[in-house]
Amino acid sequence: MAKIKVATPIVELDGDEMTRIIWAMIKAKLILPFLDVELKYFDLGVKMRDETDDAITTESAHAIGRYGVGVKCATITPDAERVEEYQLKKAWPSPNGQIRSILDGTVFRKPILVKNITPAVRSWQKPIILGRHAYGDIYRGVELVVDRPGRVEIVYTPAGGAETRLLLHDFKGPGVVMGIHNLEKSIRSFARACITCALSEKVDLWFSAKDTISKKYHAFFKSVFEEETRAHGAELSHAGISYRYMLIDDAAAQAVKHEGGFLWALCNYDGDVFSDVVASGFGSLGMMTSVLVSPEGQFEFEAAHGTVRRHYYEHLKGNPTSTNSVASIFAWTGAVKKRGELDGTPEVVRFGETLEAAVIGCIEAGTVTKDLVPLMTPRPRAHETTEGFIDAVAGRLRSLMRNPG
Ligand code: NAP
Ligand code: MG
Repeated sequence: MAKIKVATPIVELDGDEMTRIIWAMIKAKLILPFLDVELKYFDLGVKMRDETDDAITTESAHAIGRYGVGVKCATITPDAERVEEYQLKKAWPSPNGQIRSILDGTVFRKPILVKNITPAVRSWQKPIILGRHAYGDIYRGVELVVDRPGRVEIVYTPAGGAETRLLLHDFKGPGVVMGIHNLEKSIRSFARACITCALSEKVDLWFSAKDTISKKYHAFFKSVFEEETRAHGAELSHAGISYRYMLIDDAAAQAVKHEGGFLWALCNYDGDVFSDVVASGFGSLGMMTSVLVSPEGQFEFEAAHGTVRRHYYEHLKGNPTSTNSVASIFAWTGAVKKRGELDGTPEVVRFGETLEAAVIGCIEAGTVTKDLVPLMTPRPRAHETTEGFIDAVAGRLRSLMRNPG
């Protein structure tokens, strides 16, 4: 079978532990036998980050900026325990956080649906893509415990201007306060990334907040979203995509009755809560992908789960594992399809779709890893090993490539 030529390189970011093992198998069995693709390879494994004083992470982010499409394996974010385990110079910061801040991007999470896993929320038939704003609010809040009566004020001293004072509360006894902030630039980038993602996924866009109560803070978000969706109105309406602002409580109630198939943009805290609600409502972490979208339209695809540490230790002991590779495979198909779309090479997009069909075909035929067994109807009697599942996908992919349609 002749390989399909990919016109522009894809940036590949390798990672750690069990996902690194899976990564190599996916590349060897599902990608390289079929695609003639130049991969700009960056090893983001924790040892290489340590050796390069983390320069490799920054370089990889700039490469995604240059080429426009990247695919990333899960990586360890080291804490004190990992510094000890891997004998690191220090606890390097999260690679995902760094790449996100270099590309000024937003992370969107999207579940992979199959017929024989019913979401916990029965009405959900299509993915709900969730976009969480990742700057400010309570995550950069300043807090103070008030232990006796006193006035707490917000003081704004503009550069070269007169100060403004606002009474927060006149305390008659003990209490507590918090000050939060956000930046217009960050909110605008978020809104643009949401629009880019909605256009890319061809789904309607919701944004929800609580501007009836927060008439300045949340209203500011709402008006930035309105400005940006208006500025991109022609593209959105050309793609048949509608934009809706909803109050957060109304949106939450509607989301559980909805069939899905929309992008839900949320402020930081709401996104923190609802991304976990949506993830567990759809089933399994092993079936959740994520994509980082920059306001300029650069894309980085990855699995939403971590490096599956416990399985890796079993693998090191020589024990068989049954780790779900679906989200990592979909990171690759997401990148391949996006590359084909940007390059204008439909045969590359078609390959990505065929590989996805091979994965879904396996699962729907009951060939799955252990984590999915309890979620399935009917319940399969056995499960595959990590490699057994990837081999089954490769077999199905080869036959789909020979007999398309
Ligand atoms: P994890 O990798 O998300 O796995 C936690 C547990 O969830 C696993 O032990 C496993 O449960 C289940 N699980 C997750 N993904 C699975 C899959 N693909 N197939 C089957 N089961 C799966 O979290 P962790 O093991 O606690 O974290 C390991 C490292 O990942 C940490 O160092 C963290 O920094 C990193 N991390 C990286 C990213 C990223 O790069 N995007 C995201 C999150 C965490 P059972 O043990 O019950 O089988
Ligand atoms: Mg959370």
